[in-house]
Amino acid sequence: MKAAVVHGKNDIRVEEYPTPQAGAGEMVVKIAASGICATDIKTLLGQGLPKNLPTILGHEVVGEVYQLGADVTGFSPGERVAVYPIAVCGECYYCKRGRHNLCEREFGLGHGIDGGFAEYVRLPRQIINIGGVVKIPADLRYDRAVMAEPLSCGLAALRANRVQVGDTVLVIGAGPMGLIHLKVNKWAGARVIMADVLDRRLRVAEEMGADACINSANTDIGEEIARLTDKAGAEVVITSLGIPAVIEQSLKLVRKAGTVNIFGGPPAGQKISLDPRWLHYCEINLTGTFAATPDDFRQALRLIDKGEIIVDDLISDRFTLDSMLDAVERAKNQEMIRGIVEF
Ligand SMILES: [Zn+2]
Ligand SMILES: [Zn+2]
Repeated sequence: MKAAVVHGKNDIRVEEYPTPQAGAGEMVVKIAASGICATDIKTLLGQGLPKNLPTILGHEVVGEVYQLGADVTGFSPGERVAVYPIAVCGECYYCKRGRHNLCEREFGLGHGIDGGFAEYVRLPRQIINIGGVVKIPADLRYDRAVMAEPLSCGLAALRANRVQVGDTVLVIGAGPMGLIHLKVNKWAGARVIMADVLDRRLRVAEEMGADACINSANTDIGEEIARLTDKAGAEVVITSLGIPAVIEQSLKLVRKAGTVNIFGGPPAGQKISLDPRWLHYCEINLTGTFAATPDDFRQALRLIDKGEIIVDDLISDRFTLDSMLDAVERAKNQEMIRGIVEF
């Protein structure tokens, strides 16, 4: 099969690769579309690159069931499916408490096993057993269904942040995931303020329904949030970027009893400092959200199918496997909202 194969840091090549075969309990899916996620680009540039190379990245996968291994029931070839990308054990402390993304034995598409920037992908039994292969409703297009994975991560954050109707949610970073936070928090009935340093990103956020936008490169974000919230601060602050200094500055924008969610994964080895008196006397909830659970994933697909959350405007660029290298360049330069690879 043809695949975009990663041989090392910043070394990705479109080439022939062995077509996977489904072993017992496994499934091979013929891919129809794969989303390009910030995680893929970070990984390609060396952050969390798997030890066993070459590998295939891509964890946002939809397609049709192509081959079923022995003992796999409930599916037939040709069925359209969306794939929850994390292989979880279902038995550890975290899985038993519904916190599957924290599973002690987790691995997944694009980290540990080959992912979705290829014509076919093999799904391990763990993904199938946990209900991670979800049938796509008949009239839901692949290019919409492929947004279920990123949307699920936004829903996971929404759940962690315990957002209530009327809350003010401040999203720092209007990149692809920042815009997904905007959408899920609007869906939940919150007022959403977006902050970024790029006007073109803020314009997109405005078009998608942001209640206010702040360019923090030329506006004092602290003053602006004070003005917009009667000096109280936002109930929820989501840092949807990986810059520790910005995360640290964002802490003070939350109101008492509010929640700060460190969503974007910062690079290793960097620290932020905070005042323990602030955490204590203001009763701040400081948390993070990483990936999503299978339940979040199924809910995301449902919300897209019902049209409750519109995802079409998040897809700014479409590629084929052959133009995959352009996609990588555009993603690196933050030139697109979200790109998908279609087969
Ligand atoms: Zn993703
Ligand atoms: Zn587990």
